[in-house]
Amino acid sequence: MDHSILDTLDAMLQSEARWTTIRKHRNKQCRLCPLHKEAQSVCTQGDGNPTAPLMLIGEAPGQREDDLEKPFQGPAGQLLDKCMAKIGMDRTQVFIDNVVRCRPPKNRKPEPEEVAACRQYLVNVIRIVKPRVVVAMGATALYGTTGKTGISKWRGQKIYSLKLGVIVLATWHPSYCLRTRSAIPELEEDLELATRMLGLFDFFGDLRKVNLRGRLRQDEP
Ligand code: SF4
Repeated sequence: MDHSILDTLDAMLQSEARWTTIRKHRNKQCRLCPLHKEAQSVCTQGDGNPTAPLMLIGEAPGQREDDLEKPFQGPAGQLLDKCMAKIGMDRTQVFIDNVVRCRPPKNRKPEPEEVAACRQYLVNVIRIVKPRVVVAMGATALYGTTGKTGISKWRGQKIYSLKLGVIVLATWHPSYCLRTRSAIPELEEDLELATRMLGLFDFFGDLRKVNLRGRLRQDEP
């Protein structure tokens, strides 16, 4: 049989196996923080390709995400799609998720305790998807993945997350870019940088086996 057909079959089987595991980890009865009380969809899972080497992480579901049980379905998701399309990417090449899985009331910012309570789901999904690069979009995603605060300071920087065992690239949240259009080129620039980082992985092999800690900033201990 043609090798490309075998590769495609293998990728499909791997994707299905990962989706099965991701679905198993969803806990619709989760009561670890108060956010479940008003959410329609509890413990909303991610979307996209679970075998992708690139993971994009946002803050929390909004109204549309709560209705459709998927991340980035509203205007911020549409902007993200446009930014990805500009550099030749689409959702089949990434896995998209949030640090917090239930919609906060009135879309308020999640509290640090809520981010901490929900982290176990993020850790699980990162273990399953095994991305090489995680793009943390916005302050809450930066905090949830690295423990760092101050997205303006960290935007465009690479941080090695000891907790997650992955390189995190900080960028703006697409919702922020909707309000501050001048930030859109920086979001696009960061997404492109993430794809270039993946290219380096392909060139050098798995950088997780290489001691990069001296060259990358690390997350909070
Ligand atoms: S936000 Fe996360 S931790 Fe809180 S109830 Fe929902 S799934 Fe559980």
